Amino acid sequence: MIPRLDNLNPVQSLYLEFFNQLTAKGFAGDVNPDYANRVVLATDNSIYQVLPQGVVYPKQTSDLVMIAKLASEARFKDVVLAPRGGGTGTNGQSLTDGVVVDISRHMNQILEINAEEGWVRVQTGVVKDQLNAALKPHGLFFAPELSTSNRATIGGMINTDASGQGSCLYGKTRDHVLALNSVFLDGSEWLSEPMTDAELEAVKQRNDKVGEVHRLVDAIHSENRALIVDVFPPLNRCLTGYDLAHIRTEEGLFDLNSVLCGAEGSLAFITEAKLNVLPIPEYAALVNIKYAGFQDSLEDAKQIMGCGPTSVETIDSKVLSLAMQDIVWQTVEDYFPQDAAEPEIKGINLVEYTAASQAELEAGVARLTAYLDEVNQQPAKSFGYSVVYGSAEISKVWAMRKKAVGLLGNAKGQQRPIPFVEDTAVPPENLAPFIAEFRALLDQHGLAYGMFGHVDAGVLHVRPAMDMKDEVDEALVRTVTDGVVALTQKYNGLLWGEHGKGVRSEYAPAFFGELYPQLQRLKAGFDPFNQLNPGKIATPADSGAELLKIDEVPTRGQQDRLIPLAARDEYSQAMFCNGNGACYNYDPKDAMCPSWKVTRERKHSPKGRSSLVREWLKQLAEHNTDPVAEYHKVRASNFLFTLPGRLLNTLSLKRGQYDFNHEVYEAMQGCLSCKSCVAQCPIKVNVPDFRARFLELYYGRYMRPVKDYLLAGLEPLLPALAKWPGLYNALTQRPAMRAATAKLLGLIDNPAMSPESLAGQLEAQAVELATVSGIARLNQADRVRSVILVQDAFTSHFEVQLVLDVIELLQRLGFNVLLAPFMPNGKPLHVHGFMKGFEKTADRNTEMLKALESTGVPLVGIDPAMTLTYRQEYRDNPERDQVEVQLLQEWLAGQSDALKGYAADYNLGAGEFVLLAHCTEKTSAAASMKGWQQIFADCGQTLTQAATGCCGMSGTYGHEAENADTSAGIYKMSWSGVVNAPENRDRLVATGYSCRSQVKRQDQQQIPHPLQRLLYLSR
Ligand SMILES: Cc1cc2nc3c(=O)[nH]c(=O)nc-3n(C[C@H](O)[C@H](O)[C@H](O)COP(=O)(O)OP(=O)(O)OC[C@H]3O[C@@H](n4cnc5c(N)ncnc54)[C@H](O)[C@@H]3O)c2cc1C
Ligand code: SF4
Ligand code: SF4
Repeated sequence: MIPRLDNLNPVQSLYLEFFNQLTAKGFAGDVNPDYANRVVLATDNSIYQVLPQGVVYPKQTSDLVMIAKLASEARFKDVVLAPRGGGTGTNGQSLTDGVVVDISRHMNQILEINAEEGWVRVQTGVVKDQLNAALKPHGLFFAPELSTSNRATIGGMINTDASGQGSCLYGKTRDHVLALNSVFLDGSEWLSEPMTDAELEAVKQRNDKVGEVHRLVDAIHSENRALIVDVFPPLNRCLTGYDLAHIRTEEGLFDLNSVLCGAEGSLAFITEAKLNVLPIPEYAALVNIKYAGFQDSLEDAKQIMGCGPTSVETIDSKVLSLAMQDIVWQTVEDYFPQDAAEPEIKGINLVEYTAASQAELEAGVARLTAYLDEVNQQPAKSFGYSVVYGSAEISKVWAMRKKAVGLLGNAKGQQRPIPFVEDTAVPPENLAPFIAEFRALLDQHGLAYGMFGHVDAGVLHVRPAMDMKDEVDEALVRTVTDGVVALTQKYNGLLWGEHGKGVRSEYAPAFFGELYPQLQRLKAGFDPFNQLNPGKIATPADSGAELLKIDEVPTRGQQDRLIPLAARDEYSQAMFCNGNGACYNYDPKDAMCPSWKVTRERKHSPKGRSSLVREWLKQLAEHNTDPVAEYHKVRASNFLFTLPGRLLNTLSLKRGQYDFNHEVYEAMQGCLSCKSCVAQCPIKVNVPDFRARFLELYYGRYMRPVKDYLLAGLEPLLPALAKWPGLYNALTQRPAMRAATAKLLGLIDNPAMSPESLAGQLEAQAVELATVSGIARLNQADRVRSVILVQDAFTSHFEVQLVLDVIELLQRLGFNVLLAPFMPNGKPLHVHGFMKGFEKTADRNTEMLKALESTGVPLVGIDPAMTLTYRQEYRDNPERDQVEVQLLQEWLAGQSDALKGYAADYNLGAGEFVLLAHCTEKTSAAASMKGWQQIFADCGQTLTQAATGCCGMSGTYGHEAENADTSAGIYKMSWSGVVNAPENRDRLVATGYSCRSQVKRQDQQQIPHPLQRLLYLSR
């Protein structure tokens, strides 16, 4: 049995007192010094891991005022604070060993949109894509772009002065900041916007922090004008952080925002921002240009820039090939046609044009294509291109490019691309020679890498592949960074071109030279005791404090290497999570992680769960416990023999005994096992997989709730129960019984069994059970038109009519339908961590299905989630035979003639329908969604897929009383609106059993399966 884990790094007493005082003063947000929160917020996307003392989640500006005031009291002078947004920084920007102040959980409202004047006011926890989604109906957008736009916050963007694709036209974040509402360290609140000298003089008279910082910043600027001009390079990506060069606007106004933007949370908390927004360009085109060499694509950029595009982005063959292996490729593959006669693509330039009219757009594109046609196939020039028109299509290519950044982390092996020199900027004309030397430096150390970047701005993204668990590789961080710093200096560039400084601030004194003491003076004015994100950008003058050093901050690799190899291998999914945060996707219409979206608690995300599992493995190792050996022990143990121990442990837990295992358990319990992470995480982090294995060990120590046995054991019992559906329904559906089941077992809204059993109906539809001998007796013609429906527990017992309808439709299409004998599939066992039972069930079922498969008749499953188990959970055991069970649409999409014949025979007419797909199916078998559209098209119908996230049911999750609120919350996020939209009335179809039953439960509507809809058209 796994040991109790209570050997934690305790919260320091000073911080405990700080948290107690906050609570006592009426802090409205959450104060979380628990270990799970600390572990989850100990990482960002950098190589570092720093355990904070606790996390606070302010609800409103007054909470931040309270934090700042308390921290400025003499007794709390040693308390340090780091503001945090999406936590997507690549250089430890939001990491601290003090208090993380996470502004993103609650302060994420768009406060005001003024379309007429072209500005918005937002709380700084708003995510960039969230803002643009709200602006879209007004024809506006917030222009600064970044790859993490679906999870990075406006606060984070302002504080790193973020920018990306399109920066040559649109500039950086600070170019769009009109006003900022900040809280300074003494608790004063200040709305900063450009001001006249008279206004400045008035503010300077104030006798508080606001007056002090205005006096100071103005003095620093006036005293050092010439030096400032010398030090700040005239690059598109000029120096961020304490930007003294732009204290005065072009109109001569004094602008404090210039030092606040890019300050990385080291000067103030920024609570609200007024931002400039622009009209969405009406006309846009993207030219995708192919090269046989990456260096060629870089060299060609100069000529391309001469053709006047809006932006030029480049990606190398490594990044491209990773994108090609991901589901994202399906959305863009048509734009990258590959002719066998052409050379292999080794580099791509993506060139965007935007314009106010179609004619202007076409003229721009024509300039470029004329050049490309002229040099086509010449040495070091491109060998082909495609043009994409319209922002909807173009955004698919940009989404692929954005995702490619994360995909780089999915390289095979222990050495994975990591960020630390990933955003250098040099004058664009120096980029090609700079990159040639950069590559030579990496080659010299034998490091593999992928590259992409903004050629137009001279910004290059490189992530060398290293294993930070290996001390030799770890030491290379210093060697390579020093080498790259020297190179950027040689080419008049910067180490920090885009992502901010963070831990790399140690290079700031060298870059700023004589001006650096002025930065220290500035920091001292805002933060004299070095409490706000200390060690980043600059230390306060005369404080003796030092900047962080790239090789002195604790790294994740140092923690991970404490985990024994066998455990790392067993939990490689959690080990390889690189923290890029793609699972924090804000979009309610995207399937990625419903549990994070509904709770806004990061421990309930794939990244949070991975972080907790790594910490858990480390702690097990500290207790000399090998999780792999523990599986064997748990599987070999006797239920009764281990009962007293589990009972005692459970009692102790209930009496309040602390166990870190339980914190991990709580995070795992929140997971719906929807599997969206498996397909959508660029690293394919498979939470349901490690969750199941964790639960197996956890329940080796603690008692399982009775409901787990019922839910997991229902499958094999159902055939027997189905003999008396009336009795089953009487026992489960009466109000008193429902109340009792909810109270005693924690199960709610249990579905009613179909009144007639499937077995009893088969004869009427002339359907036989599939057997090897029966199929052998079929003549060749009948065998060719045969198909075997593989039953699943849910449709076969709770939706008998659906199974019968599917059979009827397939028969009308001319198929000989056979039904595989019912065998439990085992998915519920897996979900609840009964791994021994699952393995046995999967083996038995595979044996039966393999025999049927050997007949050559296709095997097809109706329910997507259950069917996909055969190619996912079943294949996790490499020793098990693989069986091919297709999704209905995968098989039926290949039966075009039969479908067309059916449409003609029954004169179906034309209709328009909307598909609500099961999230496991649309993420794990994304290509098959086109299959549904094909099937409907062959029947003369139009089918469009609704953009939805998870429905909130996911198997039995929604039936567990403890999940009632989150399940309903998830449903409301994206399903309820689509289900109740008047235009969707009688047009919806849903593929998943779970989804249909969730709609019935939440909205009392019965949505048919797509094949039922097609069948009903013929009646
Ligand atoms: C895969 C990947 C791709 C990336 N691509 C880009 C890119 O194209 N362009 C780009 O610019 N960056 C990029 N980044 C870096 C990162 O996404 C940006 O720096 C982003 O702006 C950070 O936003 P965030 O909300 O995650 O902030 P965090 O990482 O949480 O914080 C960033 C900094 O801002 C401070 N901060 C956050 N909110 C506040 C606030 N309200 N008040 C005061 N301080 C605050 C923090 O203390 C920290 O110093 C990328 C990162 C990853 C992982
Ligand atoms: S779970 Fe996947 S998407 Fe989330 S942070 Fe980890 S690697 Fe990125
Ligand atoms: S399975 Fe679903 S709920 Fe669980 S972590 Fe993955 S995406 Fe989130």
